[in-house]
Amino acid sequence: MSSEKTTAIVLRVVDFSETSVVTTLFTEHFGKVSALAKGARRPKGPFENAIDLLAVARIVFIRKSSDALDLLTEAKLERRFRSAERSLERLYAGFYLAELLTEMTDTGDPHPELFHASNRVLAELDAGSPVAPLVAGIELFALRDLGHLPLLTECAICGNELVKAARYPFALVAGGVLCPRCRPGQRHVVSVRAEVIEAMHGLSQAAPETWSSIALEPKLAGEMRAVTQHYLAHHLGHRCKMHRWLSGRPA
Ligand SMILES: [Zn+2]
Repeated sequence: MSSEKTTAIVLRVVDFSETSVVTTLFTEHFGKVSALAKGARRPKGPFENAIDLLAVARIVFIRKSSDALDLLTEAKLERRFRSAERSLERLYAGFYLAELLTEMTDTGDPHPELFHASNRVLAELDAGSPVAPLVAGIELFALRDLGHLPLLTECAICGNELVKAARYPFALVAGGVLCPRCRPGQRHVVSVRAEVIEAMHGLSQAAPETWSSIALEPKLAGEMRAVTQHYLAHHLGHRCKMHRWLSGRPA
């Protein structure tokens, strides 16, 4: 048993008993962690309400061996997620980020850059920055950081650089755009406007601190979202629950 200190984003909180919760955390140094927080439901509990969905907290936890839950011993709130006060769109974008991190990352597999980018996105959602480029930015960042970014400038099958066209076939299984030679016979292919592929490529290369200043017109943002959501659904084996809420209303 060792005691570890790190910073964490609260992804999930589930009541465990009258006074305790089990929380899923995305930590800076240890990746995803599931921990029992004893007394977290008591009004004057040891965590002072730091175990709140999408809050960022400095934590101390004791790592348990094998498949036992880790034990949270300290949590000091750094920042609460306040987007609910601004709009449902921002709140849902935060929920979606929690779902992405929960679904895409593994327990004990650290991704500090993804942690920092996610932390920044939550702060910017709270601060009122444009939502669409933040959501698209973190989706592409997560895919890249976890090694699943689709190929956007070369054919996902033969690797040849793409020849300019108005639309490109995008293969969900092969993971990216296809050249005309490789297109025949491929299944699960969607046709995507070149502008959309270029915007995805541009955003995937942009640093997180620049995302909120990238102008995405609504039509382009909607098409990017559709491609990424199809791709993610294929990759995860199911659609993300929050996808249909991302436009601010059920689709
Ligand atoms: Zn090809």
